[in-house]
Amino acid sequence: MELRERAMSPELTEAIERARVHVNAMTPEEYRAMLDKQRESWVRAMAPCEHGNPDFEQCGQCWRDAAMIAAFRTEALGEG
Ligand SMILES: [Zn+2]
Repeated sequence: MELRERAMSPELTEAIERARVHVNAMTPEEYRAMLDKQRESWVRAMAPCEHGNPDFEQCGQCWRDAAMIAAFRTEALGEG
């Protein structure tokens, strides 16, 4: 058995097989549209955050916003 096979869970193996069948059933147009969507998503993820920081994970304001949203959610949902 290859290392790769041992490392993957049955759920992941099944999900990959489902994705493979799905992609193989696509028309060339559908396939191109999927790649375009993935490209858009990647470009969005690589764009600077709303505070202009190229890496939102290193942006103090993003962290403060996230903490405030989490606190608000906890309060609003009574999860505190
Ligand atoms: Zn930011």
